[in-house]
Amino acid sequence: MSKILVVGANHAGTACINTMLDTYGSQNEVIVFDRNSNISFLGCGMALWIGRQIDGYDGLFYASKEGLEKKGAKIMMETEVSHIDFDKKIAYAKTADGKEIQQDYDKLILATGSVPVVPPIPGKDLENVEFVKLFQNAQTVIDKLENPAIKRVAVVGAGYIGVELAEAFKRCGREVVMIDIAPTCLSAYYDKEFTEMMEENLKSNGIELAFDQKVTSIEGNGKVERIVTDKASFDVDMVCLAVGFKPNTQIGKEKLELFKNGSYVVNKNQETSIKDVYAIGDCATVYDNALQDKNYIALATNAVRSGIVGAHNACGTNLPSIGVQGSNGICIYDLKMVSTGMTVEKAKKFGFDPEFTLFEDYQRMSFMKNHNEKVKIKIVYDKKTRRILGCQIASKEDISMAIHMFSLAIQEGVTIDKLALLDIFFLPHFNQPYNYITMAAISAK
Ligand SMILES: Cc1cc2nc3c(=O)[nH]c(=O)nc-3n(C[C@H](O)[C@H](O)[C@H](O)COP(=O)(O)OP(=O)(O)OC[C@H]3O[C@@H](n4cnc5c(N)ncnc54)[C@H](O)[C@@H]3O)c2cc1C
Repeated sequence: MSKILVVGANHAGTACINTMLDTYGSQNEVIVFDRNSNISFLGCGMALWIGRQIDGYDGLFYASKEGLEKKGAKIMMETEVSHIDFDKKIAYAKTADGKEIQQDYDKLILATGSVPVVPPIPGKDLENVEFVKLFQNAQTVIDKLENPAIKRVAVVGAGYIGVELAEAFKRCGREVVMIDIAPTCLSAYYDKEFTEMMEENLKSNGIELAFDQKVTSIEGNGKVERIVTDKASFDVDMVCLAVGFKPNTQIGKEKLELFKNGSYVVNKNQETSIKDVYAIGDCATVYDNALQDKNYIALATNAVRSGIVGAHNACGTNLPSIGVQGSNGICIYDLKMVSTGMTVEKAKKFGFDPEFTLFEDYQRMSFMKNHNEKVKIKIVYDKKTRRILGCQIASKEDISMAIHMFSLAIQEGVTIDKLALLDIFFLPHFNQPYNYITMAAISAK
């Protein structure tokens, strides 16, 4: 029997703990420390909760201390691990009431996740400057929105979280200005043809966009009164900072090998550079199939998968990860966008010579009179090898399932030419005989 210590019990930790308990039963002793008071909060539901699109937060949790304990784990909440002696295999932690704990282990699984990036700007500590990560952060924002004096909110950061929050604040009847140093929104996942669509969508729903400008300070007498950039000043009552997340790798950062952004470097079995120490989720690297190399892609989906893989390997079953593509989706008002792999810009940045094919058409044939929307698709591929590197799709239709096929195509190294001849069915209710996927692939140079 091995004593397996898991540090962190959110998405990666929970998936890992569940897999160890469900698959290997009482073969191991599973001990868990988490510094927070809750488990498995779905941050992806935060904007829906803030924007009152869901009734409350109940459904945003899918696991609990009690549930995991019932299966046999020992769970210590509000217990923070400060450091590890990797030679002696002992973790040092402190409970909420200040009690110091020493916990020995045979195998250690680090699932310490990520923390918000705090930009070093004057005024970041003023009242009503908010961050968005934890359940407690969302609760604070929601409580503050009870105050009608909060009339105008600045969201800093136009990544997918910032964009979702901008919609949420607008839905709560607030004026919203979204600020980003980049010239557009969502540029990590989409090229210009798509970011322009989202910009238009945000503007037409009354969200003010202040792109291409750098926040220099937040000002106010004790609490937020305005936010200042290198180009303008905006009177606001709340500032939400969503400028990104960094891996939380305080533990063992001087001993374990780290990636260029500070995440724990892991192999496909989630093993770190020290034997019997695994890392999973946002604190660790992933194998990126589009890039065909290690990368850092912080997503709950990756956290869950790496948690499962880490659990099997820590319990003695050799199960390498098949890698990821960074598949993602967003739905703002009625515009849906999904992407996987690399954009053209990203592919260039990573040294590829990308080509792309762009196609737009209606989802169904024109004789289908009921709801029928346009779909835009862009497939990115490598000029030389013709391997598919990425795909972006946007529509007011729910086109989300189509991206999974591209995710698999990237994983399996499919070329754009093979895609052109793929057996894609046709039925008027769903699509066209010359559907947009086939057409995009056929029209590739
Ligand atoms: C607003 C928001 C929206 C998001 N939307 C999506 C989405 O739509 N789709 C998607 O795939 N992803 C989304 N994400 C990203 C997703 O939430 C993360 O990728 C995911 O939370 C990573 O899970 P994790 O378990 O690796 O890390 P975390 O969620 O960061 O959890 C780490 C855990 O470790 C604990 N911990 C850390 N340090 C210690 C320590 N020293 N001692 C003890 N415990 C410790 C923490 O308390 C925490 O419980 C979103 C994130 C946010 C913030």
